[in-house]
Amino acid sequence: MAEFDLAIRGGTVVTASDTTRCDIGVRGGRIVQLAESITGASREIDASGLLVLPGGVDSHVHLDQESGPEIRMADGFESGTRAAAAGGTTTVLAFAKQEKGTSLRDCVMRYHQKAAGQALIDYGFHLIVSDPTPSVLNQELPALFADGCTSFKVFMTYDDLVLNDRQLLEVFAVAKREQALVMVHAEGYDTIKFLTAKLEGEGKTAPYFHALSRPQLVEREATHRAISHAELIDVPIMIVHVSGREPMEQIRWARGRGLKVFAETCPQYISLTADDLKGDNMDISGGKYVCSPPPRDHASWAAIWEGLKDGTFQTFSSDHCPFYYDSPEGKLHPKAKTSFRYVPNGIPGIETRLQILWSEGVAKGRITANEFVALTATNHAKMYGLYPRKGTIAVGSDADIVLWDPNRKETIRQDILHHGADYTPWEGFAVTGWPVMTIACGRIAVEDGKVFSRPGDGQFLRREISPYVRAA
Ligand SMILES: [Zn+2]
Repeated sequence: MAEFDLAIRGGTVVTASDTTRCDIGVRGGRIVQLAESITGASREIDASGLLVLPGGVDSHVHLDQESGPEIRMADGFESGTRAAAAGGTTTVLAFAKQEKGTSLRDCVMRYHQKAAGQALIDYGFHLIVSDPTPSVLNQELPALFADGCTSFKVFMTYDDLVLNDRQLLEVFAVAKREQALVMVHAEGYDTIKFLTAKLEGEGKTAPYFHALSRPQLVEREATHRAISHAELIDVPIMIVHVSGREPMEQIRWARGRGLKVFAETCPQYISLTADDLKGDNMDISGGKYVCSPPPRDHASWAAIWEGLKDGTFQTFSSDHCPFYYDSPEGKLHPKAKTSFRYVPNGIPGIETRLQILWSEGVAKGRITANEFVALTATNHAKMYGLYPRKGTIAVGSDADIVLWDPNRKETIRQDILHHGADYTPWEGFAVTGWPVMTIACGRIAVEDGKVFSRPGDGQFLRREISPYVRAA
């Protein structure tokens, strides 16, 4: 019997901290040896000329999520994880969303059913708390936490999800008690409502006005409010999908006060702008870019790059939230033509996250390859209790590896992607850097765009307490 199931030979291994020429020996789905030369494997992969990176960890994806009675999400766990793997991501953290008036525990059971036997790569769940009743706060959350869902997300906007300030404080208090990490969608509900009504009153109903209904100050105000609540409770929080300088300033201010406030940003905030929402001459095609917070402008891109470089941001996630474009269950829902407020919120991006950050970041000299690995894999695993099993290349870690060609030039196009959506917001976007092979738990998941993993290959991940949260 061969000593190794797999050897990856001749590549340059890049982790968050080091860049080393070495071979990798894999057995039983895990990395068991790093050495100058490894021979005697059942299968050898020649990685010469390529970079060998930890598989991406995408800690913010929405799959098969209920999105209202007439809207259907474009990806379930099968197509969503297939697309993830094709894009070099080997672990996803998806959301299990509580419907108001229902048990959170039942919701999580339902998401387990949606994912089991479907996922091609490993996955975990964050909980979305939309109805923090006493039984949810005192019984369900602690039990689910013990089952390995050690983070939950709260929303400060959206009719079906918004929590008021008292509810936010109550959820934060539970997070403090359980040492859970709370993720916050920080946009101010009432201000958005006010601006939406005003814009509609002026006949400004095209998708573009979605961006004007949620300017940066809406995000800045909610970010500040979330930080104040977190300070009161003395609990760490993660501000997700930060779009520009104004919320970043609040986060830096909080850190200056010694508060544990973490932050995430996404590809849309370094590569799309509000002008994309104009579509063709302010028509409904701008709906392809409707997401919240909306993409901003070039000055915001520059601010985000500053934050990616200086440690303001720990994670770079996709916020993959896929809807069809040309479908009455998607962006072209009949009511969407009457106002931007009915356009389903979210864009697909699970498959293009790494390429966009590499191309705009590493290839253009803004960040190093090691920083890229930290932002796309290592920090996610650390933040959400999966490290060092996930997010790095080390003896004992799962053999989740992507072979990366840093020089390969490609153009992102819908017809080469594997996701369920019928469009990509990055159609025609040229990138340098592309995943050549994705290995998930020691198995070749994807090679040159061809997917070998099968539904059910991915397993549910019970996560530990986040070390960023764990009390000293
Ligand atoms: Zn969100």
